[in-house]
Amino acid sequence: MREYTLFGKREISVVVTLAEDDARVPLLFELLRKHDRTWIENHEDRYTEEELDNARLLLMWPNGECKIDGGIWRGTTYDLSEACPACGTPARQTSAMFMDGEDVPKLEGHRAGGTFVEVPCVDERLAEELEASGATGLYFRSVYAVMEDGRQVKLRWKQLCAKRSLPPMSPLTTGLVVTEQCEVCKRNAYMKTSDAPTRIVYRASDLADADDVNMTWEHYNEADLQPDMRETSLSYPYILVTPKVMRIIRAAGVTEFDWIPIRVVEGE
Ligand SMILES: [Zn+2]
Repeated sequence: MREYTLFGKREISVVVTLAEDDARVPLLFELLRKHDRTWIENHEDRYTEEELDNARLLLMWPNGECKIDGGIWRGTTYDLSEACPACGTPARQTSAMFMDGEDVPKLEGHRAGGTFVEVPCVDERLAEELEASGATGLYFRSVYAVMEDGRQVKLRWKQLCAKRSLPPMSPLTTGLVVTEQCEVCKRNAYMKTSDAPTRIVYRASDLADADDVNMTWEHYNEADLQPDMRETSLSYPYILVTPKVMRIIRAAGVTEFDWIPIRVVEGE
């Protein structure tokens, strides 16, 4: 529960979590309407430990518990030579991850986090552990803080990256909405939404040689190419990992990622 003051009036925001078929849901909405209150609905699936553990792959999604200002705006560079000329997807990162030096204190007390565009980062010790596990498809990039005076300070953090991209998802996938998509490649702007749970579906045959850490063919985030890289917005792939990778990260006490199992179908 968060409390804040707005125009001298005390407002309290409350989070209520209910099952979709709970009889109290319509009553709650009725009450809110009656008292002229606004609300935000967030529809998501809840999974058991067993379901997470037995998933073929899981979406690893930075949930905002530790969010840092890093990426293209802070000097991280990308090669667009093989990307879509209209939107720059998929851009190939060619440098370390650079982040705003002012955000370094935000890393305190965390072992993992994500950038403003949800690019995952983990601390060095966790990166070493993941590397030692022999997880396939995985590599890391260094993370630097760019200080106010322009100095670049190497942090004991790593950006978690995948080597390869999976084939496109099955059209049975739901809960990724497409807005402002690039007309040329139709590969970006697949966005998670609070209106519906994210249910990613793959054809079994398309996962035959999946690694432990993979990028999706679909990219999230809308793109806006500008002559100045620091003013450019790019689209990024979702990261899908095996339960083996999830277990190592969770065993380290990391709560900064949400884990969403994918579904697998035969044929389409
Ligand atoms: Zn494009």
